[in-house]
Amino acid sequence: MKIIKTASALTKYISSVKSSSKTIGFVPTMGALHDGHFSLVQQSVKQNDVTVVSIFVNPLQFGANEDLDAYPRTFKEDSEGLRNRNVDVLFFPEYHTFYTQSHQTYVTNNAVQHLYCGAYRNGHFDGVLTVVSKFFNVVQPNRAYFGRKDYQQAYLIKKMVVDLSYPIKIVLGKTVREKSGLAMSSRNKYLSDAQQTNAVSISRGLKKILAMHKLQNSTVAKIKKSIEKDLLVSGADSVQYIEVASRETLLPLSGKVVDTAVVLVAVFYGTTRLIDNIEI
Ligand code: AMP
Repeated sequence: MKIIKTASALTKYISSVKSSSKTIGFVPTMGALHDGHFSLVQQSVKQNDVTVVSIFVNPLQFGANEDLDAYPRTFKEDSEGLRNRNVDVLFFPEYHTFYTQSHQTYVTNNAVQHLYCGAYRNGHFDGVLTVVSKFFNVVQPNRAYFGRKDYQQAYLIKKMVVDLSYPIKIVLGKTVREKSGLAMSSRNKYLSDAQQTNAVSISRGLKKILAMHKLQNSTVAKIKKSIEKDLLVSGADSVQYIEVASRETLLPLSGKVVDTAVVLVAVFYGTTRLIDNIEI
């Protein structure tokens, strides 16, 4: 596995791959890799001649009071895990070489990025779309892999690819969970044992919604009330949002819940914010 640290070196490598007509799969990450990331990596290795994985904790997508400095960085374990899974290139750029000194240009989605996570994380999705767009321009993948766990992010990236005519197929991987049901996340490292146990109620609550919906054609209001109560009773410190959205447009739904909806939640355990979702 090559470890490449600059966009110019990666560009050279990519041109040699393109000249031999090989396909490229790309998995962008922020590191602190777990089986959720590795499931995307394995799909890419299977489906493409060459797989590029990036590890980059992107400052543009962190707010002023967020965990940019504290974000777990485990490069040695990450690179070993990627090497063992036959990744061809680990792209590991430094901020100052990847962004120009006075970065000014952003990719924005005006319809959906200010909802849900975006309503609480100012500028977050501008940062995500901008860095993914930069990566796409350098890596020029045939396929790029993202997790459904970050549902709104996956939606925005799919939309960006269509709106901006990137010739890239976006492949979405299913959410990989701990045995307990807790969605794997690099931020789970912040949780105490008790918080890990309590946080299982997120996936349990989402599953219960599915059962409720099957039984009684549930309403958005009922769903929100039921899951919020369960989460708070079982140890969540606060529920930031519970929303029911259309999977097609990701715009919020009200009234009766339809079969093409997705339920999105963000919950705090102490200062750790976890997100999860379920498709109805
Ligand atoms: P991150 O390192 O958190 O930016 O995540 C990199 C990619 O891995 C994103 O596409 C995430 O949606 C995906 N991912 C993170 N956690 C999971 C998980 N538990 N299951 C599947 N994909 C995940």
